[in-house]
Amino acid sequence: MKSKNNLLIIADMEGTMGIADMRLQNGSSEEWEVYGRKLLTKEINSAAAGAIAAGAKKIYLCDAHNSGKNTDDKYLMHIVNKLLPHSCNSNMHTLDTVKDIYQNYDIGAVVLIGFHPMESNKIGFASHTVDGGKNKKVTINSTEVGEIAMIAGVAGYFNIPTIAISGDTEAIKEAKKFIKGIHGIATKEKLKDGRVALRNLGECEMEIFKSVKTSFSNRKKIKPLTFQTPLQFEYILKKTKNISKLKLPKGVKRTGLKMKWSDSDYLAAWDKFWSIYMNLMFIDI
Ligand SMILES: [Zn+2]
Repeated sequence: MKSKNNLLIIADMEGTMGIADMRLQNGSSEEWEVYGRKLLTKEINSAAAGAIAAGAKKIYLCDAHNSGKNTDDKYLMHIVNKLLPHSCNSNMHTLDTVKDIYQNYDIGAVVLIGFHPMESNKIGFASHTVDGGKNKKVTINSTEVGEIAMIAGVAGYFNIPTIAISGDTEAIKEAKKFIKGIHGIATKEKLKDGRVALRNLGECEMEIFKSVKTSFSNRKKIKPLTFQTPLQFEYILKKTKNISKLKLPKGVKRTGLKMKWSDSDYLAAWDKFWSIYMNLMFIDI
């Protein structure tokens, strides 16, 4: 069997080191352009360097935050190959693109950079599930999931483990609940009074490097995340306006704000979630 020696980095931004002010992750602000993108780029570089030190051959990056243009390419290491934004975390570029990447790019492991907790987490930093304005809750087999488990589930479907994650302390806890043995690098902690305790940037970079190096070397010991089949998916929205215009994929049943479906295959179930959400963006619910 061909050994899979490449690393796929999937980057979000809310959980990135040094980001306590939301302007730093907001693509229309100067703070994002000048400083926020640099911070994310440094985290990605640290992860890439760690994997290379552990013998990775190629590094791929899927930018999965808003516009998908969140790196400062002047500083991004040349060994990092950028994929189409959102191509691994959503079906935005078709399901065939998702399959192509996970099946044909010899990816041995996934690392999540800059992640945040799921919507229901009231103490985490910037908690939401894909879209805080629209989405109230997503569950798989009656367990609430956020972006971490949904993405790791896609990699897991293709038998690829998610080996490390950086983000705020609650995002790390969430990842550890779903993935035994995942390495977590906490970049910050939201305090009870709303302030954010940021960790030293250099420490974050060094820990990302070391964690990715160790976990990539031991990637075969971390189990890919899979869900029991047949899967039960539930997707609950926050708002009602225009909901009657929502086009639902075959097999999805809606009662008020709640949609439900069942599938024997994780990827098919996940694809339905994204088809519904993409449709929602167009009808401005
Ligand atoms: Zn994001």
